[in-house]
Amino acid sequence: MKELRAALTQASTDEAKTHALQHLLAYCGYLYYVKDAPQMEDYEYDKLYRELVELETAHPEYITSYSPTQRVGAKVEGDFPKVVHGTPMLSLGNVFTYEEVRGFTERTERDLGHQPDYVVELKIDGLACNLHYENGVLVRAVTRGDGRVGEDVTNNVRTIQSVPLWIENAPPYIEIRGEVYMPHKEFQRINEEREAEGVPTFVNPRNAAAGSLRQLDPAITASRNLDFFAYALGSSDGASIRSQHELLAMLDEYHFHVNPNYKLCHNADEIIERIAYWDTERHNLPYDTDGMVIKVNAFEDQEQLGATVKDPRWATAFKYPPEEVETIVKDITINI
Ligand code: NAD
Repeated sequence: MKELRAALTQASTDEAKTHALQHLLAYCGYLYYVKDAPQMEDYEYDKLYRELVELETAHPEYITSYSPTQRVGAKVEGDFPKVVHGTPMLSLGNVFTYEEVRGFTERTERDLGHQPDYVVELKIDGLACNLHYENGVLVRAVTRGDGRVGEDVTNNVRTIQSVPLWIENAPPYIEIRGEVYMPHKEFQRINEEREAEGVPTFVNPRNAAAGSLRQLDPAITASRNLDFFAYALGSSDGASIRSQHELLAMLDEYHFHVNPNYKLCHNADEIIERIAYWDTERHNLPYDTDGMVIKVNAFEDQEQLGATVKDPRWATAFKYPPEEVETIVKDITINI
């Protein structure tokens, strides 16, 4: 890690910088996704990732097949059976400032030719999972993996109490997607236990949730009290939902745990107001959030906007800076 960081500092040309970033971020991804032991703050990772995207956009000839920009999420390795997703599980583009939020809504409105409604949701810091229901029965649960192929963790997901094993009035086939996460209280409890046992503690709740979901013994997963927020639809046969707002209401009727803090917004000002409100308020929640997700509401509009290989063009994530950076930014503002 030290050498990879040093290589980045020493890189003096765009080409050297691009390659240094590719190697550094690929290694960080390995530590984060495979080892569940990140060594870099997410915010720094996201900023460096953005820098890499900008360099690769300016110089496509520097893109390599192993660049982290060329795939979504984790390399799928390990002991669980692999499942190909019927509809890819994409990542999300990031924005870091209010100006960039306006840039996102302006581009969306220009591409659609009209002003759509948006749903703004909390971005839960866990890991995405796709639940397959056949005739209402939960038959499979698959991690996002690399976005195309995930791991079959059905037996472990079945231990999560808030995941319905059966849903009433469901269409013949439906996939429900959402976030497996670990509440703060549970994270503290487990780390206290681990400390007492002399076992390494988890770095953060996301990392603890990932480690708990990928246990070969479902009894261990069951003892970890994970939770699940449902927020998206995967492939389906016979579902007739027309918008994100309708979907969240339907998921609630299906008895999923739906995060109640979502809001239908009509323009950039309303979205920004929501982001500003949760900037402080989110610290009172009993689970981790690392941002807000802005989604175009109507599925018809979402289809029209489409997706890149990695991200949907109808949604983006606003990422909050970590506490220390926030304090510095606020101090500077006050000093000025
Ligand atoms: P992302 O986390 O930026 O956004 C996509 C994910 O958001 C989805 O897959 C889903 O799991 C989640 N999500 C949570 N709430 C949601 C909601 N309401 N609606 C839709 N999606 C929601 O994208 P990513 O591809 O998972 O990005 C990787 C993340 O991992 C980034 O946060 C990055 O900082 C982090 N990472 C960190 C390191 C490190 O070393 N610190 C390394 C690799 C990746």
